[in-house]
Amino acid sequence: MPFPPDKQKPATLPSPETIWIDGELVPTAEAKVSVFDHGLLYGDGVFEGIRAYGGRVLKLRSHLERLYASARAIRLAIPQPIDALTAATKQTCEANGIADGYIRLLVTRGDGPLGINPYQCHTPRTIIIAAKIELFPQALVDRGIRVGFSSYTRSHPQTLSPRVKSLNYLNNIMAKAEAVEAGYDEAVMFNEAGYIAEGSAENLFIVRRGRDGSPEVATPSLASGPLGGITRGIVLDLCAGLGISTAETQLTRFDLQTADEAFVTGTGAEIVPVVSAAGEDIADGTPGPTTARIREAFAEYVKHAPED
Ligand code: PMP
Repeated sequence: MPFPPDKQKPATLPSPETIWIDGELVPTAEAKVSVFDHGLLYGDGVFEGIRAYGGRVLKLRSHLERLYASARAIRLAIPQPIDALTAATKQTCEANGIADGYIRLLVTRGDGPLGINPYQCHTPRTIIIAAKIELFPQALVDRGIRVGFSSYTRSHPQTLSPRVKSLNYLNNIMAKAEAVEAGYDEAVMFNEAGYIAEGSAENLFIVRRGRDGSPEVATPSLASGPLGGITRGIVLDLCAGLGISTAETQLTRFDLQTADEAFVTGTGAEIVPVVSAAGEDIADGTPGPTTARIREAFAEYVKHAPED
């Protein structure tokens, strides 16, 4: 495997015209931050990845609530109240003609002197980017992704909680890099006890069929160390609506290897079938019927894109 892998070409997508920074929309070329921003210097900040469908921002309220919870956990006071960021997110989409797209909302600790003390930074910086994204090419989504087992452990609960969506993603980035270098599309990360936590930027689900053929969908419980994914929550709700039973539980490597189907979920990725793990096919190595049903239900759901 060449290093770095030579096949990782990003999709060419248009860049947005304006970026929202601290209350103002500025042309992208002028959207700059100081080299003394602790978001840059130390990864000190929090973020959200959000999607808009048909001019509506899916689960905007839930994303913002998670943002404020992440900020609270790192003692970062977001300068804007939630209603102001709600309006600003929509304004940024409108200003960039983004009816269907991806929104990156981040709050950094702001500028400060060198040295990590967050209390020497006095003005957090809030940035909203509304753009297009393609996490996995459509052909790959249709075929299903191949995952490898990561040697990077998902953050221990006694470190900064893995529930915090912080600007420091290096642990996950290294898991992704390792997976790509080994020829996989994505990594499966385990927690400190050896149970599956999630992918590098997605939640993981498996499907097991009972003797009567009825599927059960299972995903690692929040105690297993995944991020509390918004898409994860939507999928669990959709399954309830489809009459598919669900479990939030502990899952092992064995559970994934012997599953009838598997898929990952995330705002960026949406719902992507997983067809092999560590080089072994999952069932027959093709996307499964329950995954297809859930993907269809999700595609219907986002047409109405509730903003709660
Ligand atoms: N886990 C991690 C580590 C992530 O970064 C993401 C993407 N935000 C997810 C899971 C999926 O979460 P969501 O469905 O809220 O995008």
